[in-house]
Amino acid sequence: MKTSTRVCVIGGGVVGCSVLYHLTKLGWSDVMLVERSELTSGSTWHAAGGFHTLNGDTNMAALQGYTIRLYRELEALTGMSCGLHHVGGVTLADTPERFDMLKAERAKHRFMGLETEILSPQEIKAIAPITNVEGVLGGLYDPLDGHLDPSGTTHAYAKAARMGGATIETHCMVHETRQRPDGTWDVVTDKGTIHAEHVVNAGGLWAREVGAMAGVYLPLHPMEHQYLVTDDLPEIYERAVEHPHVMDPGGESYLRQEGRGLCIGFYEQPCKPWAVGGTPWSFGHELLPDDYDKIEDSIAFAYRRYPILERAGVKTVIHGPFTFAPDGNPLVGPVPGLRNYWSACGVMAGFSQGGGVGLTLAQWMVEGEPERDVFAMDVARFGRWITPGYTLPKVVENYQNRFSVTYPNEELPAARPFRTTPMYEIFDQMGAVWGSQYGLEVPNYFAQGDEPRYETPSFRRSNAFEATAREVHAVRGAVGINEVQNFGKYSVTGADARAWLNRIMAGRIPKPGRISLTPMLAPSGRLIGDFTVACLSETEFRLTASYSAQDFHMRWFEGQLAGEVQIANISDRSTGFQIAGPRARDLLAKVTRADVSDDVFRFLDVKRLSIGMMEATVQRVSYTGDLGYEIYVDAMEQRALWQLLWEAGQEFGLKPFGMRAMMSLRLDKFFGSWMREFSPDYMPGETGMDRFIQWEKAFIGKEAAEKERAEGHARKLCSFIVEADDADVIAYEPIWLDGAVQGFCTSGGYSHYAGKSVAFGFVPTDRAVDGLEVEIEILGNMHKARLVTDMLFDADGARMRG
Ligand SMILES: Cc1cc2nc3c(=O)[nH]c(=O)nc-3n(C[C@H](O)[C@H](O)[C@H](O)COP(=O)(O)OP(=O)(O)OC[C@H]3O[C@@H](n4cnc5c(N)ncnc54)[C@H](O)[C@@H]3O)c2cc1C
Repeated sequence: MKTSTRVCVIGGGVVGCSVLYHLTKLGWSDVMLVERSELTSGSTWHAAGGFHTLNGDTNMAALQGYTIRLYRELEALTGMSCGLHHVGGVTLADTPERFDMLKAERAKHRFMGLETEILSPQEIKAIAPITNVEGVLGGLYDPLDGHLDPSGTTHAYAKAARMGGATIETHCMVHETRQRPDGTWDVVTDKGTIHAEHVVNAGGLWAREVGAMAGVYLPLHPMEHQYLVTDDLPEIYERAVEHPHVMDPGGESYLRQEGRGLCIGFYEQPCKPWAVGGTPWSFGHELLPDDYDKIEDSIAFAYRRYPILERAGVKTVIHGPFTFAPDGNPLVGPVPGLRNYWSACGVMAGFSQGGGVGLTLAQWMVEGEPERDVFAMDVARFGRWITPGYTLPKVVENYQNRFSVTYPNEELPAARPFRTTPMYEIFDQMGAVWGSQYGLEVPNYFAQGDEPRYETPSFRRSNAFEATAREVHAVRGAVGINEVQNFGKYSVTGADARAWLNRIMAGRIPKPGRISLTPMLAPSGRLIGDFTVACLSETEFRLTASYSAQDFHMRWFEGQLAGEVQIANISDRSTGFQIAGPRARDLLAKVTRADVSDDVFRFLDVKRLSIGMMEATVQRVSYTGDLGYEIYVDAMEQRALWQLLWEAGQEFGLKPFGMRAMMSLRLDKFFGSWMREFSPDYMPGETGMDRFIQWEKAFIGKEAAEKERAEGHARKLCSFIVEADDADVIAYEPIWLDGAVQGFCTSGGYSHYAGKSVAFGFVPTDRAVDGLEVEIEILGNMHKARLVTDMLFDADGARMRG
């Protein structure tokens, strides 16, 4: 056996084999895979082999599209068959909400180049005649849907990898992974030790156990899953063409032709987690006992939807486990806190996603970063706070919701409340309607009187509309208060702190006492952060960014550390409140003896102030676009700060506001938001972030950013006022211009201050002029929209800076 390699992939399921193939495809041939048994012997061999592009995340959907298109390429390369059946598939909608979701998906697909279409019940009946379309409002047809032979496909990946120089060692069990001081790994197997520069955990059902060998917890859990194959049915085998797939979210089932009969699987509500205490090493090429009880209701529903099933005998039952992460997306990328250790696990749809996962990981390893924003499957999207006790109920919830409508404003209840701030009880008593961000409870808005303490999930304006309007007007009219817990915060200290920040950040690093805004770029020039940098002294800086990107940012920072500089994630240690609105200064002046008048405490100043008993760090910035201050104290002092501000604020009309109001307020000033307007999908020039770049200094990503600057950019981020009805832009709606889709939205919403529906989105640069008339497709309907450049509030900045 080979004992030294550049990469050792652990696990020979479809995912490990895809990673191995893609590494060779990108030019690394000194790579190997070790498999404890035969290839496919985890969850891969018993998969139903179905594939589809539908995914709530646009980039995940694009990677699923890549996976599906790859199969023909693999077949051509290896001469092996993947057993492809490109039969197409339709997802049914039997409620208006489901139909809204499918129409929103269809709209996204327009600019992604995916040829899906909305079908009427009659059209569904015509292509899938065994379907009872009673109660069905329509469906989304995807010609790319199909199924394949799981084993044949995995072996095709393996052959293609071998052709590229990779080696595969089967019957080779990994017992330990030990890191050497130089960051390389000893992979200890029952056939000897392999010295590897990099380790990839593609352990599938055993990924938790393989992770534990390196001291990491990977948040995934296996679930039991079952599908049935029927006896031959003449209505099926006498057809001239193969029956398409039918996904019935109402019945939580997927159905397709299998040979001369049908195959139907369920995502049942009474689902069961498997191997809660850990996956046994003794589990081999085996299935779980049949369990009809848990799918009884699902079968009854299926009989109504497909009456033919009532008289079909069951030929085979396949019941096996496979793994899910808490949100159902894979766990891919460099594992935070470990060097040269990569995750390729938690892949619940290996045949829809395996190719995209392999490509992404190989790009990350070989080229330093993936070609697109893959945060939706980045292993760093869960914080280091995550535990098995949190993962399990979330995975169960995800399995149960697999076929549910995913609403943009939906707050899923499992494993909550988990992480709370000292304000939880106080806000709860004030009527907080809670949301969850990176495991943290965050007030979305405050219900009053007999308003329900629950936001109706919807693609349209929800019942939070009135409360949000109230909070927006409280800020714009007097002063509002909101917690700053859900910002990612970092302390950067040391003699080389300024030099280090200058290299890491593309923008200007401020002088002591000042604040600046800056993008952070990857070497490719793409945006990987949108930071506020406050300089407390020449050797002490404080950074603020997105709360959900903490591990994503810390992983990058730790990988870039050099010189005498220390960086600490203080997101949960440092908390407090932002106060915003025309009376914010009066409120601040009342709680401190310091002079906070405008000429002393200017816009973009940072100061240490004594506020009551607290020594606070106060930054004069506000994402609301209003006069505002962020007041940071130690988390232990947050309640004392609250008491002081709340009592002092009453005379100024102080009111609490939540995230819904914050996201509406930012629209007035056309402020972009991380992972919406700014993400690794975009470059600084096209998003306008280049205005913060300090071109005369050296920084990571400069060459690429300069290239964009010199060559220009094809598209430009713009703001629009939309003639909307009861639904605003959410994200990825197509923008129509001259009768064709020429752009897409990044986000939007309703400006309660201006009484207008606002959208942000990209259009061709040469068309991006004030007053441009476009149409935006929201939930399948066209809405006129006009490009605007004048901000809706405080266009001259008098209020924010004054
Ligand atoms: C009933 C059922 C139906 C399904 N239907 C579909 C479907 O229609 N479409 C779809 O896309 N997906 C489907 N899936 C899911 C699919 O099976 C998984 O997404 C896929 O198998 C994941 O592959 P993997 O490579 O990540 O994991 P696995 O297949 O579990 O592979 C992991 C491999 O790692 C090896 N390994 C683990 N630990 C070690 C070690 N210490 N040393 C060496 N080797 C090790 C294991 O032996 C195993 O071969 C289904 C799953 C089930 C259970």
